[in-house]
Amino acid sequence: MTTAIVTGAARGIGAATALRLAADGHDIAVIDLDESAATATAEEIKASGRRAIAIAADVADATSVQSAVERVVSELGAPGILVNNAGVLRDNLLFKMSESDWDTVMNVHLRGAFLMTKAVQSHMVDASWGRIVNLSSTSALGNRGQANYSAAKAGIQGFTKTLAIELGRYGITANAIAPGFIQTDMTRATADRLGVSFEQLVEAQVSQIPVARAGVPDDIAAAVSFFCREDAGFISGQVLYVAGGPKS
Ligand code: NAP
Repeated sequence: MTTAIVTGAARGIGAATALRLAADGHDIAVIDLDESAATATAEEIKASGRRAIAIAADVADATSVQSAVERVVSELGAPGILVNNAGVLRDNLLFKMSESDWDTVMNVHLRGAFLMTKAVQSHMVDASWGRIVNLSSTSALGNRGQANYSAAKAGIQGFTKTLAIELGRYGITANAIAPGFIQTDMTRATADRLGVSFEQLVEAQVSQIPVARAGVPDDIAAAVSFFCREDAGFISGQVLYVAGGPKS
């Protein structure tokens, strides 16, 4: 059992992942922009009997990332698991997309995963063991209104494969999970943007999903848990689509 860092773990997929990794026996650093929301997840983990700390940090900011990882090491111990989950949407059609909406999405997803992984990897190398799981998306295959997000999520896949190649010799695996439609605040915001109710959006999505239901955060947490297992050490550089059906 080790220390796991989950970014964007105040809510949604990150919170479910933090709780699942705690149930698997790991101590958890809950990182998010908002400390009070992160504290709620950390308290739930502590109530379940594991150690947890909530840390307010912006994954796109190098100083913030460095001090967050230093706190994890001193309060919980060296991290053996990193889940790069923090994410934002700034959807718009290309011709209306601002430079700032492009930069924000690139910074949180790509710069964030880069900074977090760079800050954590030396601890994994020292331990000759590590598990890195990065959140991609089915949008990596292209999605209307998401030029920024789909580019970032495709970038995450290339980043993951390169980590697998560079870090494999140190006992570290790196894999990506590409969720399909998962019911969270993020997809609620998408419904708002499209001007439909969340129920209407869910119904429209479910009609396209082979298993005929929407995903929930625990569906993704289960896949993260799998990649973090001791006996998953020969699985690296993979992208697992968790979307209720095939994607290619
Ligand atoms: P969510 O409910 O919006 O939660 C994302 C969390 O990340 C929020 O707590 C947010 O904090 C935090 N965050 C945003 N920017 C951050 C930053 N710079 N530093 C630290 N934390 C930050 O999203 P979700 O649906 O759970 O998605 C989690 C991940 O899965 C994301 O990478 C997303 O792209 C990916 N994903 C989601 C879906 C889906 O259908 N939901 C599908 C495919 C992929 P604030 O609340 O303070 O902004």
